[in-house]
Amino acid sequence: MGKESNHFDKEGYFGEFGGRYAPEILHDALVELETTYKKLKKNKQFKKELEYYRKNYIGRPSPLTFAERLTKAWGGAKIWLKREDLNHTGAHKINNTIGQVLIAKSMGKTRIIAETGAGQHGVATATVGAMFRMETVVYMGDEDLRRQELNAIRMRMMGAKVVGVSSGTATLKDATSEAMRDWALNVSNTHYIVGSSIGPHPFPTIVRDFQSVIGTESRKQFKKENGRLPNAVVACVGGGSNAVGMFYGFLKDKKVKLYGVEAGGYSSEPGTHSATIQFGRTGFLHGTKTLVIQDEFGQIVPAHSVSAGLDYPGVGPEHAHFHKSGRVTYANVGDEDALDAFLEVCRVEGIIPALETAHAFRFAKDLAKSMGKKENLLICLSGRGDKDVAEVARLRKGEFS
Ligand SMILES: *Cc1c(COP(=O)(O)O)cnc(C)c1O
Repeated sequence: MGKESNHFDKEGYFGEFGGRYAPEILHDALVELETTYKKLKKNKQFKKELEYYRKNYIGRPSPLTFAERLTKAWGGAKIWLKREDLNHTGAHKINNTIGQVLIAKSMGKTRIIAETGAGQHGVATATVGAMFRMETVVYMGDEDLRRQELNAIRMRMMGAKVVGVSSGTATLKDATSEAMRDWALNVSNTHYIVGSSIGPHPFPTIVRDFQSVIGTESRKQFKKENGRLPNAVVACVGGGSNAVGMFYGFLKDKKVKLYGVEAGGYSSEPGTHSATIQFGRTGFLHGTKTLVIQDEFGQIVPAHSVSAGLDYPGVGPEHAHFHKSGRVTYANVGDEDALDAFLEVCRVEGIIPALETAHAFRFAKDLAKSMGKKENLLICLSGRGDKDVAEVARLRKGEFS
């Protein structure tokens, strides 16, 4: 995206990161979105409607589960899981799409579009498209269509059009670029439901606000059950929406340690990982100023991860800020370690987690072992792994046939 329209108020910034670096043609739409959202945020009817769908459609509040068997197996801190995998459609993405479709409706839009990596955001968008009778188009990289065919079929069954993207690495970054292009062409009747805490202002703020229900609920549930707060909280980071939503519940609790886990891929060489916080430098991607994996000429370097949802060469600007300020510690976990953790959680706890979430589990395992038995570690179980079983079986040849 260009830097033509750099007119924003300071609200769109997280420290030095964020902002609105979008092409001229999107400027009015972004301002309209910002103005509408600011009004709706305080509107009683909007809040009531959002609450209604959270409770009666998504199934919130999602449970907080004590993972008794993982706690025993790892032999350290007590492990708690925030069960976003139990939301309707199987991940945290629906928290955001329900909110954004209500904004779209209020702006009089009749068409919604989205990008998707693993397909979870595409499914969550197709779902609200069906609910609110909106024409729905989802952009998905060809490589991700291969890895996540089931989700593409789910979207089509709910009436969405799925458009394959073959440019670049045919993954999430390329799908996002295509969705931005579509939006620029059709902005009069179309709302772009950005799926993570990325993009030009006000998207990172809107997505974070809708996802912060994860952290708000978790804090309340944990306190009610234990009479105190967890010692540490872990979440996986692609663009960073489930993590920022979870962290928001605990940001002001300075004693609660926060950890974000990115995808380490299969090496530290450029092009083989998605560890933006570790290897990225300040740059611009999809309309925001943030950390970006880039070469010495500022060209975006393709990302890689075994999990399509973490396969993104940027990170939400608020995470770049959390990293810089030191409030959140970031780490990364590689493909093979994530696969091991995926299977361990399946066998030990009877839960098939998303491959994205498996990265958080692998990191949490080492962290738990370094903590005392009376301490508590909370993991954001961002989604279920039904979408990943075919790909995991393929990667672990023969083990499941
Ligand atoms: C999309 C997705 C992610 C990564 O996206 P964030 O915006 O970083 O949360 C993680 N887990 C699951 C289950 C997902 O579907």
